[in-house]
Parts: sequence; C-alpha cells; structure tokens
Amino acid sequence: MIAFILNSPYTLLGIISVLVCFPYSVNFHQNPYYFIFKVRKCWWAKFHFKYMRACCIGHVIILTDKTLKNDLKHELIHIKQQEKYPFIFWFLYYWETYKKGYRKNRFEDEAYTISKSYYGKNVILV
Ligand SMILES: [Zn+2]
Repeated sequence: MIAFILNSPYTLLGIISVLVCFPYSVNFHQNPYYFIFKVRKCWWAKFHFKYMRACCIGHVIILTDKTLKNDLKHELIHIKQQEKYPFIFWFLYYWETYKKGYRKNRFEDEAYTISKSYYGKNVILV
C-alpha cells in the first residue's frame, strides 16, 4: 500500500493518459494494486512508441488491441518493479534506458525474460 501511495503521481498520469484514449474496459486488482484499462489504440503513441502494444504508467496497465500473449505478464512485472522501487523506479528506468538502450535496460530485460513476451518490431513500452 505504501508503494501504491508513493507511486500515485505516476498512477494519476497513467489514468489521464488512458482516459484520453477512450477505454472500453477497466478492472482494478489487489495484491499488488493495479488497474487494467483496455483501449483500441493510444493515439499519443507516436515516434519511438508507435509500435506500442501495451504499457504501464504507475499502477495503470494499458492494453491495446495489438496486445499479444504474455504482454500482460510483462506489464505486471513492471508493476512489481515499481513496488520494489517506489517513486524512484521511473528515474532508475530512464537512467538504465539512457545508458543501455530500451531492450538492455535491466527492468525490460527482467520483464521480457520472465514473461517470455515478444520483442520485435512491435515493441512494448514499459
Ligand atoms: Zn517493458
């Protein structure tokens, strides 16, 4: 619960980010705490994010119509990572990405390895 509270600014950003994409489904889960929103697509996912299938912003998981098998598992690992490093996760995540790139970022590597989610042209964002 403490991590959920400390991550609340990111969760709020996640809720705003998904509401502007007109979600057609939402669920709330506990242990860990997270929301799953389903949208057709995220219109704001451009440039580097144009192949995004799913993403996690705070305790909000956004699944698009492009979501593949294991993508939800991948995003749940990011939820657990945020619980492990409350509030500072995103600083660590972007520092890792800056140093090593997206796929070699240790948080992405853990998420892809454990979830066995697909990495290819249709990249997952966070
Ligand atoms: Zn990821």
